[in-house]
Amino acid sequence: MKLDELEKELGSKLIMNDNVIDHYSKSPYLVSPILSKMGKRVLGVVIVEDRYDVEFVVKFCDIHRIPLLARGAGTSTIGQVLPIHPSIVFDIQKLNKTMEYDEKYLKISPGVKVLDALNYLRKRGKELQVYPSSFYISTLGGYIAGGDVGIGSYQYGYHFHNAELDM
Ligand SMILES: Cc1cc2nc3c(=O)[nH]c(=O)nc-3n(C[C@H](O)[C@H](O)[C@H](O)COP(=O)(O)OP(=O)(O)OC[C@H]3O[C@@H](n4cnc5c(N)ncnc54)[C@H](O)[C@@H]3O)c2cc1C
Repeated sequence: MKLDELEKELGSKLIMNDNVIDHYSKSPYLVSPILSKMGKRVLGVVIVEDRYDVEFVVKFCDIHRIPLLARGAGTSTIGQVLPIHPSIVFDIQKLNKTMEYDEKYLKISPGVKVLDALNYLRKRGKELQVYPSSFYISTLGGYIAGGDVGIGSYQYGYHFHNAELDM
């Protein structure tokens, strides 16, 4: 598989050493022994730092028909970050620079930890109505893309029901 073009564009943001490949080829919190056996070795890991990195990786994988796997903190328990094909992984944890709240909307980068978002909101007298019990390790982007219930669910249901900011 030719990853030269990716390497030329992204430099050290593309990592292909064995330790890193090993780490991203696993789903550390996956509970299913059956799914665990389906994991494949990833081809490379891109630590994206801005939207241009994301755009480039998405286009590259589309053109070359390479499976692409987004990864936050990798805390999914149901196999969402397990590569079932040899894939490129892009890690979003460095996309964590933006947290803005303007009384109506919260704008937040996907790599921000749920805990940091909660602390940010609580300082402003606000709250996430539903958030995962893995809030201290997982990212908000990973939760929105992959999670659904958690602390607050008995009262407010699923994250995507009406559980937005407590206004
Ligand atoms: C102890 C523990 C408690 C947990 N409690 C809960 C709980 O209460 N409720 C709950 O719903 N889950 C829970 N989980 C599961 C998991 O932690 C959550 O779903 C979590 O919020 C996922 O965040 P993450 O950053 O680890 O995402 P990851 O596991 O890295 O990714 C989750 C999914 O989102 C996708 N993804 C990640 N980032 C992006 C992005 N920027 N764009 C598009 N797709 C993206 C990934 O490809 C994957 O499919 C728990 C897990 C553990 C280990």
